[in-house]
Amino acid sequence: MPDDSQAGNFIREIVATDLKTGKHGGRVVTRFPPEPNGYLHIGHAKSICLNFGIAQEFGGSTNLRFDDTNPSKENLEYVQAIQDDVRWLGFDWENRMFYASDYFERLYLSAVHLTSKGKAYVDSLSADDIRRYRGTLTEPGKDSPYRTRSVEENIDLFARMRAGEFPDGTHVLRAKIDMASPNVNMRDPTLYRIRHAAHHRTGDAWCIYPTYDFAHPLSDAIEGITHSLCTLEFEDHRPLYDWVLKESDAQCHPQQIEFARLNLSHTVMSKRKLLDLVEKKLVAGWDDPRLPTLQGLRRRGYTPEAIRAFCEHIGVAKRDGVVEMALLEHFIREDLNRRAPRVMAVLRPLRVVIDNYPEGAEEDLEAINNPEDPNAGTRKLPFSRTLYIEHEDFREVPPKKFFRLTPGQEVRLRYAYIIQCVSIVKDDRTGEVLEVHCTYDPETRSGGPQAGRKVKGTLHWVSAAHALEAEVRLYEHLFLKADAGDVGEGLDYTANLNPNSFERLTGCQVERTLAAAAPLSRYQFERQGYFCLDPDTSDQKLVFNRTVALRDSWAKIEKTQQER
Ligand code: ATP
Ligand code: MG
Repeated sequence: MPDDSQAGNFIREIVATDLKTGKHGGRVVTRFPPEPNGYLHIGHAKSICLNFGIAQEFGGSTNLRFDDTNPSKENLEYVQAIQDDVRWLGFDWENRMFYASDYFERLYLSAVHLTSKGKAYVDSLSADDIRRYRGTLTEPGKDSPYRTRSVEENIDLFARMRAGEFPDGTHVLRAKIDMASPNVNMRDPTLYRIRHAAHHRTGDAWCIYPTYDFAHPLSDAIEGITHSLCTLEFEDHRPLYDWVLKESDAQCHPQQIEFARLNLSHTVMSKRKLLDLVEKKLVAGWDDPRLPTLQGLRRRGYTPEAIRAFCEHIGVAKRDGVVEMALLEHFIREDLNRRAPRVMAVLRPLRVVIDNYPEGAEEDLEAINNPEDPNAGTRKLPFSRTLYIEHEDFREVPPKKFFRLTPGQEVRLRYAYIIQCVSIVKDDRTGEVLEVHCTYDPETRSGGPQAGRKVKGTLHWVSAAHALEAEVRLYEHLFLKADAGDVGEGLDYTANLNPNSFERLTGCQVERTLAAAAPLSRYQFERQGYFCLDPDTSDQKLVFNRTVALRDSWAKIEKTQQER
């Protein structure tokens, strides 16, 4: 995919400058540090593309590090899914997969080191009191009465915390920095908590766990990270990041650089909300095609190439913003337009009988697989007397400018003949059109003497006897408003869920070449959009998920912007 990046990438420039000045000894080592407490989403993809992309570009390397310092919400299912997703996106950490929990012993020793230097102390205030003593953005905090404990007492208490002598919440280890600091993060932040909980990797070996602010800089230093890229909310933590490294006498000092997280319209990206949607069964699971999770997008038919191109295009900035979902959709369309074979699929079938086509006869017509790809070749489409067309492509009483099938008006069946409606069979009671009878003009076949005759409409169709039945699932935005959290007072984000985000169509008729479709293979259903074969083949049915409709609202937005 061509690199048509628009937005800048200031991190690229920092790294290039650092390489020139030899700042990190000419090395570039980044890391992607997910907490295994949920599935990855498109926001994580931005971080993955950035970390792996920067390293690739400058001949460096990237570590995958599980930031597994909180035993209560983390588990192996997530650890596995995260690896699958990073690989699927097209990135390779080679042999550099690490866990923060691998460093627990070293982190503990660093904490002891800080304590012995008088830079950390055991506080026995309750969690509520610690919060109260912390002060506010406008008022300084005040010292805990335990702040003046002797080094010996602190060392002893911390060892006993580790040994499991105290229940949860009775003591914490805190950095001794400055309770009056204008930066609240520097007001003696907590470094260790007591938590009697089994960890998915270390089991019951530990009952104290380090906080992110302590574990993260040290893990970065242990791995020799040069550029530690994180999202903007950590900007105010940077002084603490640097403090921890300096006071721990770390061998290497990675540089923390913050960038704006990706926010997308019409969806939610917080792990808490995603988990909530899954647990409340408001969606069908982590891989529900309406979710912005990588597993959801994959099942929906998104390609890693499209997601990477999207991430490159949005770039990285220092200011938070919201990206339109339509832009992401534009990138998948661009990619699939080049790659997806075209097929005929009728989603809401209407029977069409060609009265003057011989009963029992059939013929093969030639169809182009992908006009965008000259190497994609052609295929044979069977034609016969009874066909299906899209129900909405016929109107007995047409509105103005309706160029599709209507009594007396000719239309072309793509790759086949021009037909004309001669009569209609209706349900006596409901008046519903059940079947349309047409005649065809044999001279209008491709290569025939009338092949070039102009008609205003061209319809897709399948031969009834040759088509396969399929289920098609249509998806719309999961949330009604661009800002999913924009709800009335007293309501939570679920108030904005789109009740019509999912529609199941059964009895669809698709051309028989789709019998050979592999799970997750993607097609353009002519005139309908891009679709992908659902990977769940357990019930032997052909099920297609609509990736995206054909109409590109983003291209339209861009066009009107240019015209203005
Ligand atoms: P939380 O910390 O609340 O569990 P998180 O979204 O930060 O959630 P992590 O697993 O810590 O989840 O994220 C791993 C990495 O991905 C972090 O470096 C984080 O900054 C980055 N990341 C997460 N969400 C986004 C986003 N929306 N845009 C860009 N980067 C993101
Ligand atoms: Mg995080």
